[in-house]
Amino acid sequence: MKPKIPVAVLGATGTVGQKFVRLLAEHPWFELAALAASDQSAGKRYGDVVRWRENVPLPDRLAGMTIARSAPPLPGRIAFSALDADVAQEIEQKFAQCGAFVVTNSRIHRMDADVPLMIPEINADHLGLIERQRAARGWPGAILANPNCSTAGLALALAPLHAAFGVEKVFVTTLQAISGAGYPGVPSLDILGNVIPFIGGEEEKMERETAKILGAVRNGEIMPAPMKISAHCNRVATVEGHLETVSVGLGRRATPEQAMEVLRDFRGPERVQELPSSPVSPVVVDLRPDRPQTRLDLEQGSGMTVTVGRVRPCPLLDLRLVLLSHNTIRGAAGAALQIAELLVAEGRVQ
Ligand code: NAP
Repeated sequence: MKPKIPVAVLGATGTVGQKFVRLLAEHPWFELAALAASDQSAGKRYGDVVRWRENVPLPDRLAGMTIARSAPPLPGRIAFSALDADVAQEIEQKFAQCGAFVVTNSRIHRMDADVPLMIPEINADHLGLIERQRAARGWPGAILANPNCSTAGLALALAPLHAAFGVEKVFVTTLQAISGAGYPGVPSLDILGNVIPFIGGEEEKMERETAKILGAVRNGEIMPAPMKISAHCNRVATVEGHLETVSVGLGRRATPEQAMEVLRDFRGPERVQELPSSPVSPVVVDLRPDRPQTRLDLEQGSGMTVTVGRVRPCPLLDLRLVLLSHNTIRGAAGAALQIAELLVAEGRVQ
């Protein structure tokens, strides 16, 4: 058996950081070799500092690790970043300068022209941007990003429809869980019994990131998919899982049955299907009239599968549907692990 590849998690004490720790605790290829956070947490025992919110016990080995400062060098060539956006830029760049592959959850680098914004089932070919990034920035490492949590589910549902029918217009309304705001996030008195119709920067992220993810590579550049997207983002009092209602306008007409068929058949390239974090089906279609539901359907494909339901004609655009995706797994830690696994599968990291 091949030895596991050592990796580090930056921002390991936060909401997404904890999800990384949980997923990495049993990862078949990666070994959690360093946990890093702010200077306030550095030097302390992880188990004493982290407010563990996962519903499985924190393994003793990991609880006993000493938190490192978020600065290179740390063990391992891969650094998963779950850092606050305010501090991510400088820290992530330092790691890339020192030769690390940084797979980041922060928004800071996502729209940089030389940074791949990846959902491997959709755009594994965007990985080629790394060479351009290294040449432009003069660093031996690389920064790769996974999308914003509400973008991830939308892009996965749109990708098969776009490939088959050409998506031209998207109207999406989100109902986003409070864990999407990190810890401690939205105060309970603001969110309990309430809906907040504003999440700063989220609508713009959904609109821009989706077009980049679905974009084509031409002469080493990503040409954003030419679709118009109108996003309305709401914070609701669920803990995990973003539900989205979506209407799509298509270039070529399609019935709900045809749309469901391409959604069900969507798999991504074979080398991506074989990655440990890839679910059997990136998208499943649930025919029950009241599904997907946040509490009941979130764990499909260990949190990596997007559940689509209620695919039906739309009187404004062509088709409408509901989707559910796991914001801290498909929308964050699970997504980053899958990208790192692709780096390994392509021989970029041994
Ligand atoms: P969070 O719960 O607030 O955690 C933030 C982490 O950043 C903590 O580990 C914190 O360490 C660390 N940190 C803060 N200041 C630091 C500094 N000066 N130097 C080093 N580390 C520092 O946030 P989160 O929700 O996990 O989000 C992390 C990132 O992922 C953000 O960029 C967010 O936008 C993105 N994201 C979040 C989600 C989601 O669903 N939550 C989804 C996709 C992307 P201490 O504990 O030591 O302060």
